[in-house]
Amino acid sequence: MPATSAVLSYGPQDPFVVADVDVDDPRQDEILVRIEASGVCHTDLVNRGAGDRDRPVLLGHEGAGVVEAVGVQIRSVQPGDRVVLSFRHCGTCANCRVQRPAYCRKAARLNHFGARADGTPRVTVGGVPVLDGFFGQSSLAGYALAHEDNTVVVDPGTDPVIAAPLGCGFQTGAGAVLNVLRPRPDSALAVFGAGAVGLAGVLAALDTTGRPHADVADALARQHSGEVVKPVLTW
Ligand SMILES: [Zn+2]
Ligand SMILES: [Zn+2]
Repeated sequence: MPATSAVLSYGPQDPFVVADVDVDDPRQDEILVRIEASGVCHTDLVNRGAGDRDRPVLLGHEGAGVVEAVGVQIRSVQPGDRVVLSFRHCGTCANCRVQRPAYCRKAARLNHFGARADGTPRVTVGGVPVLDGFFGQSSLAGYALAHEDNTVVVDPGTDPVIAAPLGCGFQTGAGAVLNVLRPRPDSALAVFGAGAVGLAGVLAALDTTGRPHADVADALARQHSGEVVKPVLTW
């Protein structure tokens, strides 16, 4: 049972608290990941502010790290693998069967924070159960318990700081452009907000233009730093 630290929420308006916690050993269908980096997404803040009955809560759903241990049922990953953690999906419902896991019919149950299905806690603080399992990971901690359906093995040399937002923000922005908006090469695209979601949307849109990504990354960096005050992205 690893002892580590975690970022906990004790109230919808309260600042996050860093606390010492214990993470349970992985059950047969669980993967223990030593978290190296985690993004913070707006969804974390929305869930922190949603109601005050269920506390303490451990959020975080953009984790990247190294597999520490796996349960006996786990086949797709092994200790030592560098992984990115994303959202959970059942793999068997009508939407999952047609390769639309983002619309999994069991998504709410699989991704909401709480305890295991049998009621046992995965994380405790001073012996008190913590509500975790957010998006099947709760990555704002030193360790997370994930599952095969939300754990993706990446190249060992991948920078975990870059990889972590792939779990939500990058795929959200890129997916919105590539799967929903589907701009043509002559389309105009307005992106409001240059975080992980917005920047991924811009880069995905660039794939429809053939314009080098480096040009835009440089322009965005200068605009973000205040060096440029007018919008610079026109094409
Ligand atoms: Zn998110
Ligand atoms: Zn499903």
